[in-house]
Amino acid sequence: MTYLFNNPENFADELIEGYVAAHRNLVHPVEGGVIRKHKVKLGQVVLVIGGGSGHYPAFGGFVGSGLAHGAAMGNVFAAPSAQQICNVAQAVDAGGGILFCYGNYAGDVLNFNQAQERLCAMGIDVRTVVVTDDIASAPLTEKHKRRGIAGTLPVFKAAAVAADSGKSLDDVFRIATDANDRVRTLGVAFSGCTLPGANKPLFEVANGKMEVGMGIHGEPGLYRIDAPTADGLADILVNKLLAEIPSTIVNPDGARIGVILNGLGAVKYEELFVVYRRIDRLLLERGLIIIEPIVDELFTSFDMAGISLTLFWMNEELEQTWVAAADTPAFHTGNIARSNEDTPASSRIKDKYTLKMGSVDSQSAAVIVFAALKAACKVINKKSEELGRLDAIAGDGDHGIGMQRGITAAVVAAQEALDAKYGVGTLLTVAGDAWSDRAGGTSGALWGVILRNLGNALGDEAAPQASTIAVGIASALHDVTNLGKAQLGDKTLVDVLLPFSAALATAASQGLSIAGSWAVATDIANEAAQSTKNLLPKIGRARPHAEQSLGTPDPGAISMALIICAIGKTISRF
Ligand code: ADP
Ligand code: MG
Repeated sequence: MTYLFNNPENFADELIEGYVAAHRNLVHPVEGGVIRKHKVKLGQVVLVIGGGSGHYPAFGGFVGSGLAHGAAMGNVFAAPSAQQICNVAQAVDAGGGILFCYGNYAGDVLNFNQAQERLCAMGIDVRTVVVTDDIASAPLTEKHKRRGIAGTLPVFKAAAVAADSGKSLDDVFRIATDANDRVRTLGVAFSGCTLPGANKPLFEVANGKMEVGMGIHGEPGLYRIDAPTADGLADILVNKLLAEIPSTIVNPDGARIGVILNGLGAVKYEELFVVYRRIDRLLLERGLIIIEPIVDELFTSFDMAGISLTLFWMNEELEQTWVAAADTPAFHTGNIARSNEDTPASSRIKDKYTLKMGSVDSQSAAVIVFAALKAACKVINKKSEELGRLDAIAGDGDHGIGMQRGITAAVVAAQEALDAKYGVGTLLTVAGDAWSDRAGGTSGALWGVILRNLGNALGDEAAPQASTIAVGIASALHDVTNLGKAQLGDKTLVDVLLPFSAALATAASQGLSIAGSWAVATDIANEAAQSTKNLLPKIGRARPHAEQSLGTPDPGAISMALIICAIGKTISRF
């Protein structure tokens, strides 16, 4: 249960505001996250981390001396948008390149990749290390598919210390990659978490049971058993982690390891210490040398009752980064002198639109598109809970909220564009930007791409034709698959977008009107959305729940069909 909130919609924004107010001496707010208050050296590499809110101290709490230079902070359990990440990155850029480092979740990967592309296009050198420490989320042979949990901290630390010591971006990248290769985490859960304003937990574990390997958003683990004693749990965690010692450790006897025992939210420090007592004993018995262990809450999930154990198999270089001093709002170790020099006012360069008034034809089209967006928003609001339920079966339950947030922001931006008499192309572009910026998550980024592509194709001069709309949707499909890497049959919104695009193109080539071609393609989209219930998810957060989702359609596919329908109904009225 989350007890204290105002409007749950504003929870993430308000927590960031309060966090910054409480730590003005260490962090500085920027649009989309926080950055270190204190100056970095000109020409050095900087570390940008980030992820959804709701995991404090991850990620904003890790910004400060000895750790991250900036953190992009998304909405509750939703990846930050590419724009947020760019804002944070540009605010901390010191000219020596940027390392992105974050946990492996589909929405984060998508948005950070998009941000990386944008920054690279501006001439900023960006590399990425995605943390994959959770041994329960995929076999070792597919380590790149594993999720990132509390083992992100040693990787962040390795990257930050290397960056602050003046190493090149190549070196910082190599050291962070090495750290990720050598870190392993296993978590367990006794209960799920309830998001602010929700009346029931996002996911549950039966009373008296424990799920080994459960993810921090309720992603399924390896198996459920009767909850063990504290010592019994320590045995499970240590045995499983020692069954997967990184191959770089030739002789584990006498190996030097960093250890993190992390509380997920509802497990108390006292309980953690009882468990740690046994962990310490077991690791020492195995001849391991523990360096500066951490027993703390580092990567949480609201009131989730659970813990995770991380082992970090260090070499000399990494040990230096592990023991290095750090001074951030949530993480202190050693002594680090506080500098009084503040970061200079950031020289953020935001992407600028070329905003010009549309032609009369394009303005008329903008009126119709605005009405269509409003109709789509209405249907998403109506079906939001159902979409959330669909997403909770195999994903993280946020699809309804995310879509609502995104499309509402899109309508607001579109209204402004309409009032300013922009053409339909610009209206769609600003709506797409607002959507992805506000919604975060996977679908938010993809819908931003879709609207922007359509806007590009329609432009601000000519009256839209069925053929230009078909071209816009086809290029949206191209960019969506490019960014998200989903293929037909992977159980995503691509399973709707692809046949919809093909049907639009065919109908347009047969000379059908806009409303006519859209109507034909809508039937195909509806059918395709329903058919996703027979598919197994192969990509994104739903992947580990594969079987559970058989018989249920994909939430992103359903919401897309709903929007297509609502748009169709609107344009047929004009
Ligand atoms: P998140 O997965 O970040 O929680 P949402 O819940 O809003 O984001 O959206 C989930 C939907 O996004 C899925 O149902 C699916 O249709 C779509 N999706 C997820 N990953 C991809 C991808 N790689 N490519 C295309 N669509 C995707
Ligand atoms: Mg989701």
